[in-house]
Amino acid sequence: MSNCEQPGLMPVEAALQRLLAMAEATPIVETQRVALAEAAGRVLAEPLIAGLDLPPWPNSAMDGYALRLADWTGEPLPVSQRIQAGSAPEPLQAGSCARIFTGAPMPLGADTVEMQENVVLGDDGRIRFSEPLQLGQNVRAQGQETRIGDEVLPVGTRLGPIELGLVASLGIAELSVRRRMRVAVLSTGDELVEPGQPLGPGQIYNSNRRLLIAWLQRLGCAVVDAGILVDDLERTRAALAALGDVDLILSTGGVSVGEADFLGVALREEGELALWKLAIKPGKPLTCGHFRGVPVIGLPGNPASTLVTFALLARPYLLRRLGVQRVEPLGFNVPAGFVWGKPGKRREYLRARLENGRVLPYPNQSSGVLRSAAWAEGFAEVLEGTTLAIGDTVRFIPLSEVLG
Ligand code: AMP
Ligand code: MG
Repeated sequence: MSNCEQPGLMPVEAALQRLLAMAEATPIVETQRVALAEAAGRVLAEPLIAGLDLPPWPNSAMDGYALRLADWTGEPLPVSQRIQAGSAPEPLQAGSCARIFTGAPMPLGADTVEMQENVVLGDDGRIRFSEPLQLGQNVRAQGQETRIGDEVLPVGTRLGPIELGLVASLGIAELSVRRRMRVAVLSTGDELVEPGQPLGPGQIYNSNRRLLIAWLQRLGCAVVDAGILVDDLERTRAALAALGDVDLILSTGGVSVGEADFLGVALREEGELALWKLAIKPGKPLTCGHFRGVPVIGLPGNPASTLVTFALLARPYLLRRLGVQRVEPLGFNVPAGFVWGKPGKRREYLRARLENGRVLPYPNQSSGVLRSAAWAEGFAEVLEGTTLAIGDTVRFIPLSEVLG
């Protein structure tokens, strides 16, 4: 474990706690009603309350025959009705059974279903039950999933495919959700050029902008694409003034103590900005503050640093502002398939894969190498001050936990 906390380096948990506290101080509270078909990725603003029992009536879990067990003497039973899913049955006639199909309502008086594979249909049309029967078998009780009035989903639930299916199962066609969060994305750096343009000397293509915009959209945010800010104070001021009404300014690059940190200068003129040095690798420098009252998070510019700090810090912050409670990714412990010989001062998030049940990092862990993350399936979290031998336990955070 960590006993290498350097003065001046902020542990990842401390940074996260501070960001979450900031998020809770500026929640997105406005709500809107949206049709179920438009609700994917949104966050519930009201608890989802069941307006009906699920299932609404007892029904058969099998294709088979429904009977009242107490009436059965062991003799074959005549079939008195046929009940398809979607039909309304008659009460069961005494001394008979009903042909019934999966999902069809149980007839009043019947309490047990035998599946069709276990019965014998006689020449006289009667059904012989050849296996022992248990009272209530193959019957789905009314309300076994949900009772009318139950809170099925709490406020702050993100609506993914499963939640949307559940909402639909309750017959609800419209939901109250938090409005979308508006996030301005800025890339800083004179060296940046957009894809499709020719590269001049010393220039590179802007990868962070696409990465963040696509990611924010997956998180249900409305993105204000502020493009590239060149390293010039006047133009940076003008770009900031043009941002309009946003809930967060998210920048990349220019956050180390670089001399060309014009974004920092311009933001400080009308706000406040703190530079955090995080005990995280990749991604040590992070800025945090506000500009004209709008929160600002400045991520480091190297693409793998942008990725890691967005995944572990900015994403939880965004979700918490929308009222989501579980914002931290799940991870699980896996044996290391690599050796970590030198204990680090910063917690490392290696872009890694699982192979034969072991974690293998991409060979090049440079913070400039985004390809490492495209190859990877997750982050292997190597704690500060630790070494690892093959087979030692390391926490693995799947990328799928943070990308959506
Ligand atoms: P900076 O934080 O501005 O010093 O940038 C650190 C490194 O990340 C430099 O090598 C930059 O060229 C690179 N970088 C900054 N922003 C981007 C971006 N949007 N896309 C790709 N690389 C970037
Ligand atoms: Mg820069």
